[in-house]
Amino acid sequence: MSESIENIVIVGGGAAGWLTAALLAKQFQLKTSAMKVTLIESSDIPSVGVGEGTWPTMRNTLRKIGIDENTFLRECNASFKQGNQFVGWYDGNNDDKYYHPFSAPQAHGKFDLSPYWLKQSTESFASSVCFQPQLCDRNLAPKRITDKQYQGQANYGYHLDAGKFSELLKTHSINNLGVTHIVDTLEDINLDQHGGIETLELKERGLIQGDFFVDCTGFASLLLGKALEVPFVEKKHCLMADTALAVQIPYEDDDEPIASHTKSVAQSAGWIWDIGLINRRGIGYVYASEFTTSAQAKQTLADYVGVNVTDIKAREIKFTAGHRKKFWQKNCIAIGLSAGFLEPLEAAALMLVEISADYLAQQLPVNKSLLPIVAKRFNQDMTTRWDKIIDFLKLHYVLSKRDEPFWQAMRTNASTPEHLTEQLALWQYQPPHEYDFTSAVETFPAASYLYVLYGMNFETDLRERNYLCSNEQMADKLFKMNKQVEAQLTQRLPENRALLKQLKTNGFQAI
Ligand SMILES: Cc1cc2nc3c(=O)[nH]c(=O)nc-3n(C[C@H](O)[C@H](O)[C@H](O)COP(=O)(O)OP(=O)(O)OC[C@H]3O[C@@H](n4cnc5c(N)ncnc54)[C@H](O)[C@@H]3O)c2cc1C
Repeated sequence: MSESIENIVIVGGGAAGWLTAALLAKQFQLKTSAMKVTLIESSDIPSVGVGEGTWPTMRNTLRKIGIDENTFLRECNASFKQGNQFVGWYDGNNDDKYYHPFSAPQAHGKFDLSPYWLKQSTESFASSVCFQPQLCDRNLAPKRITDKQYQGQANYGYHLDAGKFSELLKTHSINNLGVTHIVDTLEDINLDQHGGIETLELKERGLIQGDFFVDCTGFASLLLGKALEVPFVEKKHCLMADTALAVQIPYEDDDEPIASHTKSVAQSAGWIWDIGLINRRGIGYVYASEFTTSAQAKQTLADYVGVNVTDIKAREIKFTAGHRKKFWQKNCIAIGLSAGFLEPLEAAALMLVEISADYLAQQLPVNKSLLPIVAKRFNQDMTTRWDKIIDFLKLHYVLSKRDEPFWQAMRTNASTPEHLTEQLALWQYQPPHEYDFTSAVETFPAASYLYVLYGMNFETDLRERNYLCSNEQMADKLFKMNKQVEAQLTQRLPENRALLKQLKTNGFQAI
């Protein structure tokens, strides 16, 4: 077999497979190069078909692969997402809600408003330092029809229909980017003498050769997990949810407002996501089966939706929190659910797909002999990323005062990563700072920690650190500026639904 890498084979046609195919195809300019990208997907094995919340990173990814924003929004029934709202996470009382918006606090990185807020807070941290909670409260869009594609007045990602998203990526990758598509089922995998993958055996077509293989087979992890036997590192002791019940609910009428954020509503054994698309809501209960029965979970979901339990036709998805010990082994990389999965609390899965696929597109070496060097780096980076995501997801739980057994179990010291415990010890006396997040592959910045910590009423005692508030004048100016921007944007921006309706006839301008 040749030592050069020219023939890349992706197995799996969910969002991970098609996003990877598109990013590789775009990078390698398939139509004019010797590189070949083939995607194999089975028509007998369905995609997981959920995953409706994205990060702002998706704007850059879509732009990069050449899909215009108007087409994307129309084809995927997509809407705008400006962050997450957490309801009932602290103590479950009526006023228990806070935002983790996508826009950073005013002057973030240049001037730290958090100590000043701690000294004189009159409203929530997020609303004091960022205008976006007000936009979300009013179901406003992050942009106007006159704004250019992928540009907004506030930072935003999307809510989308996962099935339609994969279809759009598929059509685009095949028709415009030159990806070869094979519909067939992988039945066996043959290894070479060095323990890498040599050929795939497909049910109809027989043997398929490749130089490099991308495992996008979802939870099955057929290439990296099964064939190459890379172990799975379980994180269930830390993130105990293991089941999701998902439903799609129509709007009551065509004018019902579309929320501009994902609502995450705490329940006795987990939490419910509530996502508004243009044509329906996607709602799901993520719970720990150790703390509730499936009948109780279904009842909880029915109560939330406001229907009789017998009218709920929910899809049940089982999962185990965790990830592969390595993500790249020999000539195979796992991207998407095949690499691992954590409860979708901050919707980080597609972002990890974007990052992994982009890394591969940028760093795939020309020669097989160089693969171990890149694989080692990728594995180090990704292990750090997964650890950081676990820390951040856990943060949402450890500060809760809810008293149900699930919530008590989720905040024990034994279930909390040591690194997070250390950070929390420091933050009792100083707010999170960029210096707490110095890795080159930080996934959640200090701003995200500030929003969640102070949204969850964490107490930082600044009495010994008065010097952190040495420029009150500047702080006042920034707090006022935030209110001015908020007033301007709440006047200027249309409602989410109104803008999406308008998009049907007009589009955003090209960049
Ligand atoms: C409950 C839940 C909620 C989620 N919410 C979010 C969210 O809000 N935001 C977010 O970013 N992510 C979310 N995710 C994650 C997101 O759904 C996935 O990251 C994304 O859909 C990518 O999935 P995938 O392509 O890896 O796997 P899948 O969609 O499962 O695709 C697997 C593919 O492999 C193919 N395949 C399998 N076996 C074979 C075989 N033998 N031969 C050929 N082909 C085969 C299948 O046909 C399919 O095409 C959520 C996940 C779950 C479970």
